[in-house]
Amino acid sequence: MNVLITGAAGFIGSHLSDKFISEGHRVTSLDNYLTGSPDNLEHLRNETRFKFIEQDITQPFTAADDIDLVMHFASPASPKDYLAHPMETMKAGSTGTRLTLELAREKKSRYLMASTSEIYGDPAVHPQGETYRGNVNTLSPRAVYDEAKRFSETICLTYYREFGLDVRIARIFNTYGERMQVNDGRVVPTFLTQALKDEPITVYGDGTQTRSLCYISDLVEGLYHLTTLEGLAGTVVNLGNPDELQIIEVANLIRQLTGSRSGIVFQPLPEDDPKRRCPDIIKAKRLLNWQPEVSINHGLEKTARYFERILNINKEE
Ligand code: UDP
Repeated sequence: MNVLITGAAGFIGSHLSDKFISEGHRVTSLDNYLTGSPDNLEHLRNETRFKFIEQDITQPFTAADDIDLVMHFASPASPKDYLAHPMETMKAGSTGTRLTLELAREKKSRYLMASTSEIYGDPAVHPQGETYRGNVNTLSPRAVYDEAKRFSETICLTYYREFGLDVRIARIFNTYGERMQVNDGRVVPTFLTQALKDEPITVYGDGTQTRSLCYISDLVEGLYHLTTLEGLAGTVVNLGNPDELQIIEVANLIRQLTGSRSGIVFQPLPEDDPKRRCPDIIKAKRLLNWQPEVSINHGLEKTARYFERILNINKEE
């Protein structure tokens, strides 16, 4: 298969590129490095089935080759990044989604949209199933991401209904692992960096808010099933790990796993920070025969080893 991945230099996009290459496919990857990094794709540089094009997907572009699958992952994705790049975030989820859908239509290819648990906002229903319509504050700074992704979902299903395009939508819940940017502000890279440096761990609010953390290899498996199985046109599915943890528990687990001497400091909760988040994955289990396999301890240990290397920290010293 010829696969085109936008946002391929990002955390999830780079792991997806690896997966499709390892399964024998050809990958054309696009990124403008707004929040991604060339380091994430360095290991694929000499791979003949891999091609990189530096491209802002909110600007018109064409692809010379045939394409069987377009995967749209280009967008700032951490709250810190999308609040720093609000216009780019809204463009990636509006113009970027429309242009990539047009490309898929022209190439008669399948299309996968990277949506998000953020479309549920600060959820009033728990856990969140795909039929829940969400609770987004459209006026919040955070809504630049939430609403861009909600628009993306709607335009994807419009292309499905109007043009018969084979679109699939993954609502991706909090995912962590190697190649997250050290300073992207999300909970796992931030806490791991602080713990490894024995610096205070910054828990926002009282730390009782919850998230459900999925290790990257589990997410990539789910995405691979969602894109390669037949008969899923028009499908929207949650992908995430339903093991729900309080943020204070994540902080303590990371301190323990890294043998850190860090203390915990409490800082103000960001505006409209969701109080609880946990995916209902019954649909993913049924349709994709998929569920996460990697335990939080194992996933965090692997991620900690990556950050030790990136930060040049030797805990044995
Ligand atoms: N968080 C925290 N300290 C940090 C970074 C994040 O307590 O240094 C909290 C944040 O307030 C949220 C949760 O961890 O409740 C997950 O935040 P993240 O930015 O990773 O992703 P989100 O799920 O909010 O998009």
